[in-house]
Amino acid sequence: MQKSDPKRVRQEVPRRKLLVVRGVVQGVGFRPFVYRLALEEGLAGSIGNDTGGVTIEIEGPAERVEAFRRRLEAEAPPLSRIDSIAVREAPATGGTSFQIIASEAAGHVNTGIPADAATCADCLRELLDPNDRRYRYLFLNCTNCGPRYTITRSIPYDRPQTSMARFTMCPACQAEYEDPADRRFHAQPNACPLCGPRVWLVASDGVEIPADDPVTAAIDRLTAGEILAIKGIGGFHLAVDATNEFAVMRLRDRKHRYGKPLAVMVRDLEAARELCVVTPQEEELLLTVARPIVLARKRTGCGIAPSVAPGIPWLGVFLPYAPLQHLFFADPRVRALVMTSANLSEEPIAIDNDEAVARLSEIADTFLMHDREILQRCDDSVMALVDGAPQLIRRARGFVPLGVPLSPQVSESGSPPLLAVGGHLKNVFALARGRFVYQSQHLGDLENLTGLEFFREALAHLMHTFEIESEVVVHDLHPGYLSTSWAKEWAAERNLPLIAGQHHHAHVAGCMAEHGVELAIGLALDGTGYGTDGTIWGGEVLIARLDGFDRFAHLDYVPMPGGEAAIHEPYRMAIGHLHAAGFDVGSPELLDLLGCKEPQVRILRRMIDRGLNAPLTSSLGRLFDAVAALVLGRGVVDYEAQAAIELEGAAVDEPDDSGSGYPLELFPGDWSARKPATISAKPLWKELVENLHAGVGKSRIAARFHAGVASAFIRAAKSAQENTGIEKVALSGGCLHNRRLARLLRTGLEDEGFQVFQHRAVSPGDGGLSYGQAAVAAARLGYRASS
Ligand SMILES: [Zn+2]
Ligand SMILES: [Zn+2]
Ligand SMILES: [Zn+2]
Repeated sequence: MQKSDPKRVRQEVPRRKLLVVRGVVQGVGFRPFVYRLALEEGLAGSIGNDTGGVTIEIEGPAERVEAFRRRLEAEAPPLSRIDSIAVREAPATGGTSFQIIASEAAGHVNTGIPADAATCADCLRELLDPNDRRYRYLFLNCTNCGPRYTITRSIPYDRPQTSMARFTMCPACQAEYEDPADRRFHAQPNACPLCGPRVWLVASDGVEIPADDPVTAAIDRLTAGEILAIKGIGGFHLAVDATNEFAVMRLRDRKHRYGKPLAVMVRDLEAARELCVVTPQEEELLLTVARPIVLARKRTGCGIAPSVAPGIPWLGVFLPYAPLQHLFFADPRVRALVMTSANLSEEPIAIDNDEAVARLSEIADTFLMHDREILQRCDDSVMALVDGAPQLIRRARGFVPLGVPLSPQVSESGSPPLLAVGGHLKNVFALARGRFVYQSQHLGDLENLTGLEFFREALAHLMHTFEIESEVVVHDLHPGYLSTSWAKEWAAERNLPLIAGQHHHAHVAGCMAEHGVELAIGLALDGTGYGTDGTIWGGEVLIARLDGFDRFAHLDYVPMPGGEAAIHEPYRMAIGHLHAAGFDVGSPELLDLLGCKEPQVRILRRMIDRGLNAPLTSSLGRLFDAVAALVLGRGVVDYEAQAAIELEGAAVDEPDDSGSGYPLELFPGDWSARKPATISAKPLWKELVENLHAGVGKSRIAARFHAGVASAFIRAAKSAQENTGIEKVALSGGCLHNRRLARLLRTGLEDEGFQVFQHRAVSPGDGGLSYGQAAVAAARLGYRASS
């Protein structure tokens, strides 16, 4: 008896399957990819966008369908992200062709607009190929790369909704756009020199400078030491030659920014390695499609002007991500460029041509303009490798508006549509719905109307993008934040309920929500945040649930003489701490160490003694400030967290040596009576000042300080565990940007048997706060979606 070939039998019975794909699968070349895949596997069926992603129907021999299913995930386009694939059997129809179905938007949109992506290798090859029709064309892109979020007005993500609408595609571009087999099929910003945007040069008075080749003319000016304002993807950059100290100082003088480190763009990885010691993980970060600025260890004598990143051992480096930037670096004269957001101190980045000339004519010598309008301001994102894992310091271009999932533990059905407005400094708001939180780009400090205007503009855009109509508004507990008063007003106008979230609980809840932790000991190590007792918190050990918390322990309160002013002038915090530790702050030796005059100190002491304008704080960030003021003489800061960053930098070459820490004392509280334990820094100051007098090196003192702080909080966590039995610790707050502290805490806690959780997809600092606020609100509302 002859056996039939089982393969043949299966081939004769066509199978049809319905695949519902969720994730980032629209506007990223997913449909042409699926089309090609179906053709290669000889399958019939269709693909269409739906409101939550794409739906694919596929029909053919079972093993072909299986191969298709496998390759769908394995070979998905670089900008796509598959969150889930639901597969259903369907009756075969006998169809023989594969079609891309035109889509209609209906219902909720969960895919929105993709993030901006760096020029891909294929486009880069065309850019530098003299025989290509897009040779040296500054606006080339394809479905795998190019601007997205920043050029889109509203959904659906189609050309008429982008700032490319005014450019009519030439026949060649149109043919690419319509060909499912082409890399530019439905690439919305598709363009070429014949039909797309152009660049030109403008003097600081706004008058065009004639130039046959504006890019080369711009490079001539840069190499001559000029400050160039360059219109980019998410806004204007101010650029100078990073190897020219005079040019960098001129930029600093004109921007009135002296301390804040400036980011440097270099040609490629090799060039980055010349400037910094780049680890393989950092190389990976540099090459991600978001092309973030990566903080890496600076090499001494690397040729970068000293005033690019004064006082710290790191340099923010990044690689070109737009064709224009690639062309700059194709010129051998360009080695490294300072590329900093074009704005006046904390104002939002400039995006409009006329706005740029009006706002920047006092800073830039020349402007390189283009006529592709930027519709969403977006700074460059900043990342660092912290304790072996990538961490977001500023989440903006390349990440926005990608959603970050909320773990199912937050609430069974996710979050109701809500708006979380974030905090005060480094504001980022978030919209949430269901399983996802959509954070805005970094908006800067919400201190004035310009900042608020940017907030409103970005909110309107993001609400529209995801069609989220908030049903709840979440804000920080701080009554004085502009974000709080704005939230109250906005909610009142719409008759929406408000939820106030305690700052440090939101930090910790964010970390828990990322990892699906429902109950944890939360270490919120931060700058400032309003506490439930009206003081300023920031060195907190919380017993945290997603919907609430108890305060188990905190750094002992010290006065902040002058309130807010103490944040900008760390010497005030040193006086507050030293006074609290029993030192005579008017003594000549302390005055000498702090670089203060006696009358100055007398005023501050009076504030403290009378309790006038000297609010109490348990902030760890302020303790870092105080130590930096005394040890490094950093009495006044030029940018937020400068003192703490320099203190971390001072210790960079010291071994971790966790046993060598300065002593901090843990005073037990009464857990059952809800009386928190306190961690006193007094003994730390005694030993630190002795070390200073004994001439111990600053790097050693800085290292001992970090080790002492880490071990004090580990002891507090241990005590919390003994009281509650909780063995999970969530680390959050701005101090977790500190590599040494993050490392010491994680290793020390693990040695004590804790399971440690750190932020991955959102920032531990205030840039991640709105994600945590959304998690807290979703958990409190215990949302049950109707569908
Ligand atoms: Zn491309
Ligand atoms: Zn064209
Ligand atoms: Zn904070």
